[in-house]
Amino acid sequence: MTIGVMEVNLVDAHGLKKSDFLNNIDPYVLVQYRSQEHKSLIAKGSGSNPKWNQKFTFRVEYPGTDDHPKLFLKIMDHDTFSSDDYLGQTTIYLKELFESGVESGTSELRLQKYRVVDSSSHSFSGDIRVGVTFTPRVETEFYSQEFGGWKESQRFPLNPSGEYNVNSMRKLLESKLNTFKGATIWRSKIIPLNVRCFMWRSVLGRIPVAETLAVRGINTSSTLCSLCNTETETADHLLITCGYSRVVQHWIFKWCGLEDIMFSNIQEFIDFAATWGNYPRTFCYP
Ligand SMILES: [Zn+2]
Repeated sequence: MTIGVMEVNLVDAHGLKKSDFLNNIDPYVLVQYRSQEHKSLIAKGSGSNPKWNQKFTFRVEYPGTDDHPKLFLKIMDHDTFSSDDYLGQTTIYLKELFESGVESGTSELRLQKYRVVDSSSHSFSGDIRVGVTFTPRVETEFYSQEFGGWKESQRFPLNPSGEYNVNSMRKLLESKLNTFKGATIWRSKIIPLNVRCFMWRSVLGRIPVAETLAVRGINTSSTLCSLCNTETETADHLLITCGYSRVVQHWIFKWCGLEDIMFSNIQEFIDFAATWGNYPRTFCYP
């Protein structure tokens, strides 16, 4: 069985209809895959041509118990004073996407229009634009998210004898760490060990942000950032690019007497810290 991530890119819809109040609708979409469901933002007052531009991630196990995996999009109209109304639905069949993803490492249903069907009146009600990608997760030999750490193994393959020893483990760790330019920071005696561990896990994308939790199948009500509620909560977003984090960074720079720098991900931040590592040390520990 392959475990992977499906990302659904919900873009917009055109020509949505509602029998009574044409154009006076606030559409949103319930995106469902098996027992997992995400709800889009409500496109307030956008009428029959709403735009969402949102991405949702789902955890996929393929082949699972379901022979005909499908993504179900249910388009609803948000009503403030009464229950929400159903506008229509679309089903996207995923079997071929999953099959070719397992075969070639990644696969995509390009952004395209799907007809929205009103199943109560069996009529078409506009179309919706959606793109879907599927990426099977690459399990490295030693690291496994399921176990939250080192995989238990009978043999330690780095050593010809098959026995675990600290030296070969250290070599493995360093070979992995040296893929980061900021590897020197990892050896810093000034930064507390738990902080260094956290940095390392962040760079690897292993901190429990909403996106990672969703991939692990933990039910989160939304994968949107819990601070700004507009973008997917990835490690890079939460720690670096989120507007709230930028404010924190601004004050830290100010405190260190440095000009503001805009980083686009954690790796860039760590590269910077590794290059300028002596600055805060002399500044904070004169
Ligand atoms: Zn944010």
